[in-house]
Amino acid sequence: MSEMNMTHPESEPRGLRKNEPLSGKTTFRVGGPASFYLEAYDEPSIREAISWAHARDVRLTVLGGGSNVLVADRGVDALVLRVGIRGIRHEMTG
Ligand SMILES: Cc1cc2nc3c(=O)[nH]c(=O)nc-3n(C[C@H](O)[C@H](O)[C@H](O)COP(=O)(O)OP(=O)(O)OC[C@H]3O[C@@H](n4cnc5c(N)ncnc54)[C@H](O)[C@@H]3O)c2cc1C
Repeated sequence: MSEMNMTHPESEPRGLRKNEPLSGKTTFRVGGPASFYLEAYDEPSIREAISWAHARDVRLTVLGGGSNVLVADRGVDALVLRVGIRGIRHEMTG
């Protein structure tokens, strides 16, 4: 991920999708579209998505496995950011 994207939130994050149906992304299998949808698998991608949404006053909501959310039929007027970072990192300090 180039630094340029991070400091120029006007450029659309790679993989951004518009009017993306959310029904297939939740275990309840219901719900309307997200105005904007992005899957992020690393920290720089998450930061870029947040900068992009912030620069546009687009609401941001986070999605994980979609097993504890119920999406309205009218959908979600926001950037739905699916965090795909898996696992836990344990750092020993001191
Ligand atoms: C069949 C079934 C059985 C279940 N059994 C249990 C159970 O025994 N115990 C239990 O506790 N739960 C249970 N759950 C509920 C659910 O699996 C848990 O709550 C799980 O932790 C939700 O994780 P998720 O990634 O699917 O979250 P999602 O449904 O994607 O999101 C849930 C909430 O967390 C927020 N969120 C998700 N990811 C992040 C993130 N990275 N950073 C910040 N916010 C985030 C979302 O914005 C949303 O508000 C069950 C669900 C199902 C469908």
